[in-house]
Amino acid sequence: MAVVEVRELVKEFDGGRVHAIDGVSLAAAAGEYLVLLGPSGCGKTTLLRTIAGLEQPTSGDVLIGGHVVTGLPPRARQIAMVFQSYALYPHKTVLANIVFPLRAAGMDRAERERKARWAAGLLGIEQLLDRKPRQLSGGERQRVALARAMVRDPQVFLLDEPLSNLDAKLRASARDELKRFQQDLGTTTIYVTHDQAEAMGLGDRIAVLNAGRVCQAGPPVDVYDDPADTFVATFIGSPPMNLIPHDGRLVGFRPEHLLPAEVVNGERVTVPLEVDRMEYLSGDRHVYGTVSRIGERTRVVARLPATVDTPIIPGETHSFAVPARRLRFFDSATGQRAAPVRLDG
Ligand code: ATP
Repeated sequence: MAVVEVRELVKEFDGGRVHAIDGVSLAAAAGEYLVLLGPSGCGKTTLLRTIAGLEQPTSGDVLIGGHVVTGLPPRARQIAMVFQSYALYPHKTVLANIVFPLRAAGMDRAERERKARWAAGLLGIEQLLDRKPRQLSGGERQRVALARAMVRDPQVFLLDEPLSNLDAKLRASARDELKRFQQDLGTTTIYVTHDQAEAMGLGDRIAVLNAGRVCQAGPPVDVYDDPADTFVATFIGSPPMNLIPHDGRLVGFRPEHLLPAEVVNGERVTVPLEVDRMEYLSGDRHVYGTVSRIGERTRVVARLPATVDTPIIPGETHSFAVPARRLRFFDSATGQRAAPVRLDG
């Protein structure tokens, strides 16, 4: 059953001049980790705030636990939110911050503390309960904010870029932690980010948003391997999918599928690649150059794993190839997925 669902949701601002959400229908199943991914301004935060009840939709409905909650205030929705700025009370201790929502709900002191210690234990912050927020690192503050959200036993977690204030290393470990405790708790989670690596790592499903609409929603592997349109194809993947115009179509392939022809077996399409530059990244070689076959002259990038040791020399043309089954086709006018066309080997 869908724990959270939005139906035909529209949210306009400024008397209809801004279409922040432009007809979104989406559901998160029980226990699911759904990630809303998209560039700045695509409507992610507005969608989350509308689910939370902090914004009222212009039209459409929000359902939580199968009930229409459109129009109900946030506190009637059994949700817990953690935003970018954790908004901890600076003068209260960590413990007081965590129990605050329980106090407000009238829970007795012993029970409040028991819950706070349970959440702090899960998040590994038991030793910090007497500190003030200013005595904590960014990562620790984030865990306090999460603990405060967890103690309320919400049906749903709504997280808006909760890791964005952390440095890259801490972010990776915090991501891992978030995923683990969400799996332990089994709480349905909707997580907003513009970071595709975070989305790929965390999401059971990813909904890719652009300009207030969902371009595609599916498991990370589907969104990566079978993008529904050129926006998804180029927004996800680093470097993004290569796209070459050809006969009213765009022929797409991922950089890791463009390899020296000698290592590509089976049905394939070969392309001469005029290499101009190379980068070494995490053991891979990123080879940049221009192809003039298939269609117009187009810049592409190939990503060669360390296991491929073919010598590649910038300034020279090398024979590269893409396995035929790795090619994707898009309509060049609409950018939508299109039927494949045959390209000669
Ligand atoms: P970011 O990643 O930068 O936070 P986002 O995807 O979360 O972006 P939103 O904050 O949802 O995007 O904004 C979507 C669109 O709605 C933007 O064009 C934004 O300028 C506009 N918008 C959001 N809130 C308001 C508001 N209160 N009044 C007017 N326009 C708004």
